[in-house]
Amino acid sequence: MRHIVVAVDGPAGSGKSSVSRRVAAEMGLKYIDSGALYRSITWQVLQSEGVVTPEFAFSAGMAGMDITQEFLPDGTSRTRINGNDVSLLIRDEAIARNIGIISDNRDVREFVNGLLRKWARKESVIMDGRDIGTVVFPDADLKIYLDASADVRAARRVKEYRELGKDVDENVIKKQIILRDEQDRERPFGALVRADEAVYIDTSHMTMDQVVERIKDCIRAIV
Ligand code: C5P
Repeated sequence: MRHIVVAVDGPAGSGKSSVSRRVAAEMGLKYIDSGALYRSITWQVLQSEGVVTPEFAFSAGMAGMDITQEFLPDGTSRTRINGNDVSLLIRDEAIARNIGIISDNRDVREFVNGLLRKWARKESVIMDGRDIGTVVFPDADLKIYLDASADVRAARRVKEYRELGKDVDENVIKKQIILRDEQDRERPFGALVRADEAVYIDTSHMTMDQVVERIKDCIRAIV
């Protein structure tokens, strides 16, 4: 297969990550989770500062941070900061509450985008996020925009948290999702925008298998 970049964008809980992992595992692509990088940086700031304040500045020290992401054959990923596996730690609800300031920061976004572009040069990838097809890879070989209603997305997030053994309130999660949608759509750079040329898939009433097959068909059509 020729070298390809598949960009999958969409709001929180639209199914980007689960679907992209499956497509990657089934088609021999590397899955890259860009949200995990913003989460990792948020985790690192919380570790070192205890809080994320509106005055947050991305320091030279942080830019020296070694973040890696490994995609395993079972479809899971391992994200590491300076060798420490933070894959589970970054799924904490506290990360979602504090991530807005971090992902609004222009220096953070440039740092993350540099890493994503470097990784994608090495092999064919399917990468999910908010601005992958618009900012990170405007020339991506295929752009997908996944969507779903806020109710469906909140229910999916609750299920994910419960599978990790975390007891969460569905209403709280729904409010968080709506707030994150606003933040993701309104950020001054790297905002969530649906690219005109992206294939739009509303997953609200689709099974995961159906979405995976739809994307695989799109990939088969371009390789
Ligand atoms: O995809 P996930 O929900 O894990 O992303 C967490 C957060 O990271 C998003 O709500 C957004 O603030 C930020 N993000 C971003 N740009 C991306 C991916 C994620 O700003 N490409």
